[in-house]
Amino acid sequence: MSYLLGTCRALATTLANALQKPTTVEFPFERRTRAERYRAGFALLHDEHGDELCIGCLACERICPSRVIQVKQAPKRESKVTGKKRGYAEDFTIDLTGCMGCELCVQVCPTDALVMTREPETPSFCREDLVVTMDRLYANEKNKPAAWANGTKLMAMQEPAGQAKGPQEAKEASPKEAS
Ligand code: SF4
Ligand code: SF4
Repeated sequence: MSYLLGTCRALATTLANALQKPTTVEFPFERRTRAERYRAGFALLHDEHGDELCIGCLACERICPSRVIQVKQAPKRESKVTGKKRGYAEDFTIDLTGCMGCELCVQVCPTDALVMTREPETPSFCREDLVVTMDRLYANEKNKPAAWANGTKLMAMQEPAGQAKGPQEAKEASPKEAS
């Protein structure tokens, strides 16, 4: 008797779900709108004068819980824009095979040099492609749409209770917009 009852319940559940609108879509013919904070890759940015924003401070490398960022500092040199001595990165790589997308590296960047990007559906077929070199990171600035956040905006969301800004407020508060 209980076996029959159980079977009827299972059939009723199956029937109820069979009549519901499917939650899946026919990818790639149909694509879902990505969430506002969706992010997939990385880019390094330049300032409005074309100078690299990255000062090679290593903060992103040190905070990364997966240890997938490697930054090689360059000797300090004069900025072509300001004439003042400042730090630069000589080399910068991110190994996406171990990245968990936590965005901590973006959050700690003091110059908003490092941002994440939103490109969807860009699979890779070899591991080497997933190690993103400095050249590729700077190329991504132009080639890929940036996610909404940068260090300034994410830090604005981490203010003490009552002062923290939501994503929209943080976005408006940021002095720099990620390009
Ligand atoms: S998003 Fe997180 S895991 Fe990925 S590189 Fe940045 S700090 Fe590391
Ligand atoms: S990307 Fe930002 S945090 Fe990382 S080394 Fe450059 S300036 Fe420092």
